[in-house]
Amino acid sequence: MELLEERIKKDGVVLPGDVLKVNSFLNHQIDPQLMMTLGQEFARLFKDAGVTRVLTAEASGIAPGIMAAYCLGVPMVFARKKKPSTVTDAVYTAEVFSYTKQVTNTISVEAKFLDTNDRILVIDDFLANGEAAKGLISLAEQAGAEVVGVGVVVEKAFQGGHDWLVNHGYHLEALASIQEFADGQVIFN
Ligand code: 5GP
Repeated sequence: MELLEERIKKDGVVLPGDVLKVNSFLNHQIDPQLMMTLGQEFARLFKDAGVTRVLTAEASGIAPGIMAAYCLGVPMVFARKKKPSTVTDAVYTAEVFSYTKQVTNTISVEAKFLDTNDRILVIDDFLANGEAAKGLISLAEQAGAEVVGVGVVVEKAFQGGHDWLVNHGYHLEALASIQEFADGQVIFN
């Protein structure tokens, strides 16, 4: 998406460790108009997938996830990184190693919010090594649901997540695909 690439070029900052900081429109301050445009694009890309629910992870997946779900006319559920004290019902859990924080989180979703008949669209802000996507896919599969697509706002295609998802047959769509970082500049595919 040209609009997104331009925004990344304008506002993105490349940090050491191949991390792209985009906290002026996606990860801290959020640009709602841009998020709606991203949601419309996800809805267009997955319109034939029969999506019944969007599944994402807190916190940064929620903004693009809710817009995608709104545009598809389906609910969105986000996996939590900490189990809230109010949860007494059954939960599905998965271990996710965080690329940016270098810690392992247990993500969870209440079982009642995923259904065997669901056709799940997984949405996240970034795809790097694919740990978050794999965790979300695991939650959906524990419910017996089908993952019909994975949509990410930005993929770093030179890290392992892209190849893993494609090689395992998942329908992956990235709204911006980064080939590499060169001297602090973002090079798109
Ligand atoms: P993965 O699990 O695919 O290795 O990494 C994806 C997760 O790590 C995303 O949910 C995102 O929050 C975070 N992440 C990975 N790489 C980046 C990056 O370059 N920039 C930002 N802002 N987050 C990233």
